[in-house]
Amino acid sequence: MATIDRRTATLALAHALSAAERGLPVIPLSRTKLPALRSPHRDAPEPLLCRGECGGPGHGVHDATTDPATVRALFAAAPWATGYGIACGRAPHHLIGVDLDTKADTDATAALRHLALRHLFTIPETVVVLTPSGGRHLWLTGPPGVTVPNSASRLAPGIDIRGAGGYLVGPGSLTAHGVYRT
Ligand SMILES: [Zn+2]
Repeated sequence: MATIDRRTATLALAHALSAAERGLPVIPLSRTKLPALRSPHRDAPEPLLCRGECGGPGHGVHDATTDPATVRALFAAAPWATGYGIACGRAPHHLIGVDLDTKADTDATAALRHLALRHLFTIPETVVVLTPSGGRHLWLTGPPGVTVPNSASRLAPGIDIRGAGGYLVGPGSLTAHGVYRT
């Protein structure tokens, strides 16, 4: 495994801290876009349904926090982190990610425009994160009290929704395929 240079790890932490400061709960991610901290229960004989009740980190999106000291502690425990994830569906922003894929045979952006015309809604001006594979993440805020679930290609081919229990790779994250940018 390639060693992760200190600068990359420090940048990931800096980006995560500034997201947390804006009220977005974050977790460290590894180069594979998966949570950097492994489950403390991975060697349990039976699968354990712990969402952090044990008090330790390593529970994926359930570790996500806006508390700067806790963000620092999570990254200190995962010095191999090269990016960060932003938990969706949580107060105060109730973030919903609209993940528009671009593949040879799928134009998710056109599909979204088509949906908007058919259902008479407009696509608001909002944060757009460009993925290294040419996809786009639109950030929307949801109303509190409404749980928007995760879905994949349910609205239209190539349109995935990141909602409650999901996370988005934050801008500035480095992954095996490149950097996520705004
Ligand atoms: Zn646990």
